[in-house]
Amino acid sequence: MLRDAYKAESKRDEWNVLGIDRQQLDDLLDHVEARLADAGCDHTLRHSRTWAESRSVAWSELEAGLLTGGAGCDCEVLSNVDPDERV
Ligand SMILES: [Zn+2]
Repeated sequence: MLRDAYKAESKRDEWNVLGIDRQQLDDLLDHVEARLADAGCDHTLRHSRTWAESRSVAWSELEAGLLTGGAGCDCEVLSNVDPDERV
């Protein structure tokens, strides 16, 4: 039954591909949103990266997860990585 549980879990929590937990994801989204409100998106993931570095999160893993999730820059992180709006 473990495998079924895992399946259900991964379906519900697709953001797990990012290698961070839900609390960290909320923190990341808050950070990116605040920085974008301030400076706008420069079509890179630099604010996400700044967040990862300040939280000691492995950036290479997070970046790969974001790209997999269709987020190629910070504004796409906000629009494409919403834990409450997964299909
Ligand atoms: Zn952008």
